[in-house]
Amino acid sequence: MPQLHAIRADITKLQVDAIVNAANSSLLGGGGVDGAIHRAAGPDLVHECRLLGGCKTGQAKITKGYRLPASCIIHTVGPVWRGGLQGEPDLLASCYRNSLELAASKQLHSLAFPSISTGIYGYPVELAARVAVNTVRAVAAEHPVVEEVIFCCFSNADLAVYETVIRELHP
Ligand code: ADP
Repeated sequence: MPQLHAIRADITKLQVDAIVNAANSSLLGGGGVDGAIHRAAGPDLVHECRLLGGCKTGQAKITKGYRLPASCIIHTVGPVWRGGLQGEPDLLASCYRNSLELAASKQLHSLAFPSISTGIYGYPVELAARVAVNTVRAVAAEHPVVEEVIFCCFSNADLAVYETVIRELHP
Protein backbone atom coordinates (compact mmCIF):
# COMPACT_ATOMS: atom_id res chain seq x y z
CA MET A 1 0.00 0.00 0.00
CA PRO A 2 1.29 3.48 -0.78
CA GLN A 3 1.57 6.20 1.79
CA LEU A 4 -1.52 8.30 1.37
CA HIS A 5 -1.96 11.64 3.10
CA ALA A 6 -3.52 15.07 2.88
CA ILE A 7 -1.63 18.33 3.34
CA ARG A 8 -2.40 22.00 2.87
CA ALA A 9 0.01 23.51 0.35
CA ASP A 10 0.51 25.24 -2.97
CA ILE A 11 0.93 22.28 -5.30
CA THR A 12 3.39 24.19 -7.48
CA LYS A 13 5.91 24.11 -4.60
CA LEU A 14 5.92 20.35 -4.07
CA GLN A 15 9.02 18.36 -4.87
CA VAL A 16 7.49 15.11 -6.05
CA ASP A 17 7.93 13.03 -9.19
CA ALA A 18 4.68 14.40 -10.62
CA ILE A 19 1.98 16.87 -9.70
CA VAL A 20 -1.44 16.50 -11.25
CA ASN A 21 -3.06 19.48 -12.95
CA ALA A 22 -6.84 19.97 -12.95
CA ALA A 23 -6.72 21.19 -16.54
CA ASN A 24 -9.39 22.07 -19.07
CA SER A 25 -9.81 20.12 -22.28
CA SER A 26 -7.69 22.51 -24.36
CA LEU A 27 -4.66 21.92 -22.07
CA LEU A 28 -3.64 25.48 -22.86
CA GLY A 29 -4.01 26.87 -19.35
CA GLY A 30 -6.86 28.45 -17.43
CA GLY A 31 -7.75 29.67 -13.97
CA GLY A 32 -7.32 28.09 -10.55
CA VAL A 33 -4.63 25.50 -10.07
CA ASP A 34 -4.13 25.25 -13.85
CA GLY A 35 -3.15 28.90 -14.09
CA ALA A 36 -0.88 28.61 -11.06
CA ILE A 37 0.91 25.60 -12.59
CA HIS A 38 1.39 27.30 -15.96
CA ARG A 39 2.73 30.47 -14.30
CA ALA A 40 5.15 28.52 -12.12
CA ALA A 41 6.31 26.12 -14.85
CA GLY A 42 6.94 28.91 -17.36
CA PRO A 43 6.08 29.35 -21.05
CA ASP A 44 7.74 26.14 -22.26
CA LEU A 45 4.86 24.21 -20.70
CA VAL A 46 2.22 25.64 -23.02
CA HIS A 47 4.48 24.90 -26.00
CA GLU A 48 4.58 21.21 -25.08
CA CYS A 49 0.84 21.23 -24.29
CA ARG A 50 0.04 22.58 -27.78
CA LEU A 51 1.49 19.38 -29.24
CA LEU A 52 -0.82 17.15 -27.20
CA GLY A 53 -4.05 17.93 -29.05
CA GLY A 54 -6.17 18.50 -25.94
CA CYS A 55 -7.53 15.97 -23.49
CA LYS A 56 -11.00 14.50 -22.96
CA THR A 57 -12.78 14.61 -19.61
CA GLY A 58 -11.54 11.76 -17.41
CA GLN A 59 -8.36 11.24 -19.46
CA ALA A 60 -4.78 12.20 -18.56
CA LYS A 61 -1.64 13.33 -20.42
CA ILE A 62 1.90 13.94 -19.18
CA THR A 63 4.45 16.70 -19.76
CA LYS A 64 7.72 17.75 -18.26
CA GLY A 65 7.64 19.99 -15.18
CA TYR A 66 9.95 22.71 -16.56
CA ARG A 67 10.60 25.30 -13.80
CA LEU A 68 8.60 23.38 -11.19
CA PRO A 69 10.34 21.40 -8.47
CA ALA A 70 8.23 18.44 -9.65
CA SER A 71 9.76 16.49 -12.56
CA CYS A 72 6.51 15.95 -14.45
CA ILE A 73 2.98 17.26 -14.71
CA ILE A 74 0.05 14.94 -15.33
CA HIS A 75 -2.81 16.93 -16.86
CA THR A 76 -6.28 15.55 -16.32
CA VAL A 77 -9.66 17.07 -17.09
CA GLY A 78 -12.27 16.73 -14.36
CA PRO A 79 -16.02 16.78 -14.96
CA VAL A 80 -18.09 19.92 -14.52
CA TRP A 81 -20.62 19.28 -11.73
CA ARG A 82 -24.16 19.20 -13.18
CA GLY A 83 -26.01 17.80 -10.18
CA GLY A 84 -24.32 14.39 -9.99
CA LEU A 85 -26.51 12.35 -12.34
CA GLN A 86 -24.55 13.05 -15.52
CA GLY A 87 -21.75 10.55 -14.87
CA GLU A 88 -19.69 12.95 -12.77
CA PRO A 89 -18.54 10.35 -10.17
CA ASP A 90 -17.30 7.89 -12.82
CA LEU A 91 -15.56 10.65 -14.77
CA LEU A 92 -13.88 11.96 -11.63
CA ALA A 93 -12.77 8.44 -10.68
CA SER A 94 -11.33 8.09 -14.21
CA CYS A 95 -9.21 11.19 -13.64
CA TYR A 96 -7.62 9.64 -10.57
CA ARG A 97 -7.31 6.18 -12.14
CA ASN A 98 -5.79 7.37 -15.43
CA SER A 99 -3.41 9.77 -13.70
CA LEU A 100 -2.14 7.05 -11.36
CA GLU A 101 -1.80 4.51 -14.17
CA LEU A 102 0.14 7.03 -16.25
CA ALA A 103 2.44 7.72 -13.30
CA ALA A 104 2.99 4.00 -12.77
CA SER A 105 3.73 3.44 -16.47
CA LYS A 106 6.45 6.11 -16.24
CA GLN A 107 7.90 4.55 -13.06
CA LEU A 108 7.05 7.59 -10.95
CA HIS A 109 7.09 6.98 -7.21
CA SER A 110 5.51 10.09 -5.69
CA LEU A 111 2.45 11.94 -6.88
CA ALA A 112 0.40 14.92 -5.64
CA PHE A 113 -3.21 15.60 -6.62
CA PRO A 114 -5.16 18.83 -6.21
CA SER A 115 -8.84 18.55 -5.36
CA ILE A 116 -9.91 18.01 -8.98
CA SER A 117 -13.21 19.60 -10.13
CA THR A 118 -14.01 21.18 -6.75
CA GLY A 119 -13.06 24.75 -7.71
CA ILE A 120 -14.42 26.39 -10.85
CA TYR A 121 -16.07 23.09 -11.92
CA GLY A 122 -18.26 23.08 -8.79
CA TYR A 123 -18.04 19.44 -7.59
CA PRO A 124 -18.97 19.32 -3.86
CA VAL A 125 -15.72 18.71 -2.00
CA GLU A 126 -17.11 16.08 0.43
CA LEU A 127 -18.31 13.96 -2.49
CA ALA A 128 -15.18 14.53 -4.55
CA ALA A 129 -12.90 13.61 -1.65
CA ARG A 130 -14.65 10.23 -1.29
CA VAL A 131 -14.17 9.46 -4.97
CA ALA A 132 -10.54 10.62 -4.79
CA VAL A 133 -9.55 8.62 -1.72
CA ASN A 134 -11.40 5.44 -2.71
CA THR A 135 -10.09 5.45 -6.27
CA VAL A 136 -6.51 6.20 -5.31
CA ARG A 137 -6.55 3.46 -2.67
CA ALA A 138 -7.88 0.88 -5.10
CA VAL A 139 -5.73 1.77 -8.09
CA ALA A 140 -2.52 2.31 -6.13
CA ALA A 141 -2.86 -1.19 -4.68
CA GLU A 142 -2.48 -2.50 -8.25
CA HIS A 143 0.63 -0.38 -8.88
CA PRO A 144 3.20 -0.78 -6.11
CA VAL A 145 5.68 1.39 -8.03
CA VAL A 146 3.67 4.37 -6.78
CA GLU A 147 4.84 4.67 -3.18
CA GLU A 148 3.42 8.00 -2.05
CA VAL A 149 0.24 9.89 -2.94
CA ILE A 150 -0.45 13.34 -1.52
CA PHE A 151 -3.85 15.06 -1.60
CA CYS A 152 -2.75 18.67 -1.83
CA CYS A 153 -5.51 20.90 -0.43
CA PHE A 154 -5.50 24.65 -0.93
CA SER A 155 -7.65 25.60 2.07
CA ASN A 156 -7.88 24.44 5.67
CA ALA A 157 -11.54 23.60 5.10
CA ASP A 158 -10.67 21.25 2.23
CA LEU A 159 -7.87 19.72 4.27
CA ALA A 160 -10.31 18.94 7.10
CA VAL A 161 -12.63 17.21 4.62
CA TYR A 162 -9.87 15.07 3.13
CA GLU A 163 -8.50 14.13 6.56
CA THR A 164 -11.96 13.08 7.69
CA VAL A 165 -12.56 11.02 4.56
CA ILE A 166 -9.17 9.31 4.80
CA ARG A 167 -9.87 8.45 8.45
CA GLU A 168 -13.43 7.27 7.78
CA LEU A 169 -12.71 5.16 4.74
CA HIS A 170 -9.33 3.80 5.77
CA PRO A 171 -8.84 3.99 9.50
P1 ADP B 1 -11.51 22.73 -11.42
O1 ADP B 1 -11.77 23.54 -12.67
O2 ADP B 1 -11.14 21.29 -11.73
O3 ADP B 1 -12.61 22.86 -10.43
P2 ADP B 1 -9.80 24.60 -9.93
O4 ADP B 1 -8.38 24.94 -10.23
O5 ADP B 1 -10.81 25.68 -10.07
O6 ADP B 1 -10.14 23.32 -10.84
O7 ADP B 1 -9.90 24.04 -8.45
C1 ADP B 1 -9.43 22.78 -8.05
C2 ADP B 1 -8.87 22.89 -6.65
O8 ADP B 1 -7.52 23.41 -6.72
C3 ADP B 1 -9.62 23.84 -5.71
O9 ADP B 1 -9.74 23.21 -4.45
C4 ADP B 1 -8.70 25.05 -5.63
O10 ADP B 1 -8.84 25.73 -4.40
C5 ADP B 1 -7.36 24.37 -5.71
N1 ADP B 1 -6.18 25.20 -6.03
C6 ADP B 1 -6.10 26.39 -6.65
N2 ADP B 1 -4.82 26.79 -6.74
C7 ADP B 1 -4.06 25.82 -6.17
C8 ADP B 1 -2.66 25.63 -5.91
N3 ADP B 1 -1.75 26.53 -6.30
N4 ADP B 1 -2.27 24.49 -5.28
C9 ADP B 1 -3.17 23.57 -4.89
N5 ADP B 1 -4.48 23.67 -5.09
C10 ADP B 1 -4.93 24.78 -5.72
